[in-house]
Amino acid sequence: MSDPSGLQANVRSLLSSLGEDPDREGLEKTPERVEKALRFLTQGYSQDPAAILKKALFTVSYDQMVIIKDIDVYSLCEHHLLPFFGKAHVAYLPKGQVLGLSKLPRLVDVFARRLQVQERLTVQIAEAIEDAIKPRGVGVVIEAMHFCMIMRGVEKQNSVAVTSCMRGDFQSQLPTREEFLSLIKHKSSV
Ligand SMILES: [Zn+2]
Repeated sequence: MSDPSGLQANVRSLLSSLGEDPDREGLEKTPERVEKALRFLTQGYSQDPAAILKKALFTVSYDQMVIIKDIDVYSLCEHHLLPFFGKAHVAYLPKGQVLGLSKLPRLVDVFARRLQVQERLTVQIAEAIEDAIKPRGVGVVIEAMHFCMIMRGVEKQNSVAVTSCMRGDFQSQLPTREEFLSLIKHKSSV
């Protein structure tokens, strides 16, 4: 396969640096496969969240909380290039406009498919929603496990990292924040 960016050559030299023989049968196609995997896992760089959300704005009179919970998150930590994965819970209080429901998981993917830290991922999702529909408030909670903790023998291997970003009413109105947090605590029955 052609290698215009040189990524495959880099993977090949990485394998050598690890003491491997990049020409042995099992590794022969590894640089090509790694490039394909990494391009897919970082495709969020070439996607514009604002453009995605702009296509799915609806004007409504609904002014109650909208929550999408248990959105799958698969991302790569920028410190170790190892995966972290878990669930995102996203909520907002509309002010005249709502987003198509399917766009929220899509939005999570756009930011997750980049090199990330969980804290920034959480804030970016909240800010994109804020920018798109100027809601009365937005809340994002992510619960994730990090392979860089699990696999490297760092203690507390089963610990889950929880990050949250609360803006507007979710920050200033305790009942709003509590409603959100209690709704995401319940296991859904569907
Ligand atoms: Zn890490």
